Amino acid sequence: MSLQAAAAIFLSTFVLSACAPRTPAPAGAVYSYEITPPPDGSWTLKVEATFEGSPGDRLVAPEAAGSVREVVLARGADTTPLAREGDAWLAPPSCRTRCTIRYDLDLDAVAAACHRMDCDRRVGDAIIGRASTFMLRPRPMGDAVVRVRVAGPDVARFATGLRRDPEGGYVFAARELGEASFTAFGAIRRAQLAIPGSRARVELALLGPPLAMGDQGVAGFVVESASCVAGLFGRFPVDATVFVVPVRGSRSVVFGRVMSLAGASVALLVGDATPASSVHDEWVVVHELFHLGTPSFVGEGHWLEEGLATYYEPIARERAGWMTEAELWSHFVREMPRGLRATGDAPELEERDDTDSTYWGGALFAFLADVNVRAASGGAHSLDDVIRAVLDREGDGTHASRVADFLRDGDAAATNHELTAAYGSWAVRGQNPDLDALWRKLGISRIADPRAGSERSASREATVVLRDDAPWAAIRRGIAGVGVQHAGSELH
Ligand SMILES: [Zn+2]
Repeated sequence: MSLQAAAAIFLSTFVLSACAPRTPAPAGAVYSYEITPPPDGSWTLKVEATFEGSPGDRLVAPEAAGSVREVVLARGADTTPLAREGDAWLAPPSCRTRCTIRYDLDLDAVAAACHRMDCDRRVGDAIIGRASTFMLRPRPMGDAVVRVRVAGPDVARFATGLRRDPEGGYVFAARELGEASFTAFGAIRRAQLAIPGSRARVELALLGPPLAMGDQGVAGFVVESASCVAGLFGRFPVDATVFVVPVRGSRSVVFGRVMSLAGASVALLVGDATPASSVHDEWVVVHELFHLGTPSFVGEGHWLEEGLATYYEPIARERAGWMTEAELWSHFVREMPRGLRATGDAPELEERDDTDSTYWGGALFAFLADVNVRAASGGAHSLDDVIRAVLDREGDGTHASRVADFLRDGDAAATNHELTAAYGSWAVRGQNPDLDALWRKLGISRIADPRAGSERSASREATVVLRDDAPWAAIRRGIAGVGVQHAGSELH
């Protein structure tokens, strides 16, 4: 399975969970968890949960079935075991107003029961999973506020990207539970990373044995990748926690995923033999960090999120000097055709969920919009203005937004309607662009047959030559960040 295919499956998993129907809860429902991370030598997480205004009479832990122990109702010093029925515990009526439940969670058993890539896993002396795993919770949850506090002598054996509560601990909405942040327990080596020119707090959480490049090498790699992304948005978009998980025997970054709605977190699976000298060839980290700069389109717009990241990741690396302009366009000439609509495909990108349509179909939308915004504005505006305006108005990856809001804000920033026009012609009506004509107009000539569908690792070889006397050469150079554009100078 390709990395992007795996990523697509992971994201679709999230979309399904994030779109579960919500049930109204009494106003002011609050679920507060106080967790005590286990000491070295134990994997028993102690949890005390207080439910106020719960609409459900069942308590469930879907991600940790079979690993929750000793569930009791606590009244002062008195405790009463809760009855179990199937996969649920029966919540006492007092939970509709206020009740306190205590339980243990066997984290090691949770990890042992996971046989997919996107659930809890043991990494050396640590376990990484989702924050929702440890939350025994009312079913239905309703529109509750969820608070998490960490207690005990081993708070350093806990790391999460959950949204920080100014009053202490962490806070998010029950509807965000499907993206409730990567979270780790156990031995964690951590560092606060400073991203040049940005005030965002980026925490690095390193799990398992050190990589060959060393912890300093990993920190430098993440800072450099974050700086690429900051260059696109004008700043690093949001506070985030980046988890690095080693993969034995591999020499590259093998997987990455963002969970951001309840607070920004990124998990990176990095080959433990990845050489420090090859980090500029790595695209996954820049791709994932880019996601933090766009709002989350929940229940729609998967193609837009992935398309923007797929388009901008190589552009960011080229503008940062990680690759040449010829290598950037070689990559696009080779890969963009993967996004074209095939006979029999639905016209709307929203209706096509295959990997190529989602990633490269989405990237084609970004490319067409960028070129046309630049052409219509005489080079004065671009898709860069669009993504920066959307970040300012709709928020970063911790905020939910709509495709319609993206288009409205984007058109305003572009000062024309080319974004919406590209959306209509390509993303809705599925009118394939004439890519060969577009490459010629931009001054891009192939010098070798494109290897459409080839592995990304082979993409460094330049297979194009660039001509600066082409009609839209200034647009091409503007996208690549080469030289200074003069409004209207070469536009037709
Ligand atoms: Zn992605």
